Amino acid sequence: MNKRNLRRFSIEATGTVLFLSGCCTIAPSLFNGLPAAFSRESSALTVVYPRSGAVIDSRATFIIGAASPGASVTCNSEPVRTNGAGFFAHVVKLNRGENSFNIVGGGVSAALTVRRPHASAPASLDILRFKTGTLEPAESVGVVPGDVLHFSARATPGSKVVAKLGNRTIPLFSAAQRSKGSPVNMGLDTAFGVTFQKNDASLPDTYTGFYKVAPEDLFAGTRPSFVLTKDKRVVTASGPATVSVLRQPSVFHTRHDDTIVRVGPGAARVTPWGAGVRVLSDGYRGPWRRLEVAPGKHLWVSGEDLDPEPPGSPLPESRVTTVNLLSDDYGARVAIPLNQRLPYQVDQDLKAGTLTLRVFGATADTDFVTADAEEGHILPKERASSRLIDYVTFRQKNDQLYELTVHLKKKHQWGYYVDYADSTLALHVKSPPVVDSSAGSLKGVTICVDPGHGGKEPGAFGCDGTKEAIVNLAIAEKLKDSLEKMGASVVMTRTADIDVSLAQRVKTAIESRADLLVSVHNNSLPDGRDPWKEHGTSTYWYHPQSVEPAKTFKDGLVQDVDLQDFGSRFQNLFLCRPTQMPAVLVEVGFMIHPDEFLRLITPDFQAKVGASLAESIRSYLVESSPN
Ligand SMILES: [Zn+2]
Repeated sequence: MNKRNLRRFSIEATGTVLFLSGCCTIAPSLFNGLPAAFSRESSALTVVYPRSGAVIDSRATFIIGAASPGASVTCNSEPVRTNGAGFFAHVVKLNRGENSFNIVGGGVSAALTVRRPHASAPASLDILRFKTGTLEPAESVGVVPGDVLHFSARATPGSKVVAKLGNRTIPLFSAAQRSKGSPVNMGLDTAFGVTFQKNDASLPDTYTGFYKVAPEDLFAGTRPSFVLTKDKRVVTASGPATVSVLRQPSVFHTRHDDTIVRVGPGAARVTPWGAGVRVLSDGYRGPWRRLEVAPGKHLWVSGEDLDPEPPGSPLPESRVTTVNLLSDDYGARVAIPLNQRLPYQVDQDLKAGTLTLRVFGATADTDFVTADAEEGHILPKERASSRLIDYVTFRQKNDQLYELTVHLKKKHQWGYYVDYADSTLALHVKSPPVVDSSAGSLKGVTICVDPGHGGKEPGAFGCDGTKEAIVNLAIAEKLKDSLEKMGASVVMTRTADIDVSLAQRVKTAIESRADLLVSVHNNSLPDGRDPWKEHGTSTYWYHPQSVEPAKTFKDGLVQDVDLQDFGSRFQNLFLCRPTQMPAVLVEVGFMIHPDEFLRLITPDFQAKVGASLAESIRSYLVESSPN
């Protein structure tokens, strides 16, 4: 996967170093039977990562490459561990500034330089100033009384700093000046699940403060100024953005389907909205619009995804008088007629066996919950709604928050989605796949297999420069063969090394009515980690319904093909986010682990991986199926 871009190298080299260019020159040999390593010219030395001249802000990195099988390799005269194919993953420390590496193998040498940037220097003790680009709020904000504004600035340590906004003066303090408080680490960041100190110098010169907007404040495009005082000298700086108090909220609606909805600007996602969802906005921060979906309950959408409605537009609110349970090809659907498209959110609870649909702006006035009102001619036991849904409950959780809970007959869940038809909101619940377990086959089941990356998106690079996209496709095709032998219908998102957007891949899965989406990838690591130590097979899920298949697939690979267990966990990945079916992303192995990579490019191993995943899919579907 693309956690880190392992880019094509271009190094200053002496001797006959093998350069990779354009579409990888080595990869096609993958399909000629032998791993790429064995078909290389004997005097070649390949360095895949890092490219010379790279800027890497990390204490360490690794040099990934391949030498002739059996050749001894050194880096700056230190021995480099290689495997039988000549593949290596050599960890090197990086000092701040320029780092030079000379790699020698089989009588060929390659030189590369990597620059580690210097730490962002703290504002000088001697020069009285605000550091450029550090004044916050950095983006203009629209607020209402009661909102809290955050101010911060980096400036000469030991100063007195205030922000002035209109006729208000807000004191700002550094960590040293509030040393009795519980510590707050301003320089902390995380990457790849690991927390680290982003900027060691951020604390002593960082001043922060806040101000709660009062009802009498009349900021309108008001620009804060920042004032620093030290030794009776004064420096003033003008803030980069403005503050406005919004007197009245205004109505917007979503411009398109799949609008991304977040709990804060750039923060975690919740259920995306379809087009035409009407909502009240009471604030903004830079490009982000704050939406008040119920009193005191806010969600955020990019302003680009919203259109303003003209003045005088009616409030986004509706009564809920009827709930209909219906059946269709997908399964059951719970339909709620509203007088307009209101915002919504879905929560899946496997333990409780429920799906909860929250409708913002809706008020319960429900007298009827009807079953298959349109389909009276179908016997109740034939209806998907009766087979899947035990009963439905609703409550008015808060003002403007209607909450409908679908209690399912089986705790196992196979998929769901929400959409609008005109202004009727529907929660669709998927029927289980029909599996004939006695035959041990997957007849009647549709599996969508997604070979990750392709075309201009190569993914990670293996030790000899083989693209992850090529390995993913080879394994995916083996998986397809195994699944088809079991009788399953398989839909591939790509069958060649071509560009396919992430959205198109998900669309293919949804439109093919797949019972399961499996995305095949192979892994790499960020700088600073050790490829020899961190490796193995791992799977990723996003929604609770995908936890079980993700664990089953990972456990199967650990057992069947003897890969180290690298875990099964939540990750916010595009291919894991659809709800219409369980969706799992598999990172089979590591492209940058020399031994694992050698196995990944071997057709026999690829076939074993495909067979293991197919068997896991079969056991997951058969053992979970109610048939
Ligand atoms: Zn990938």
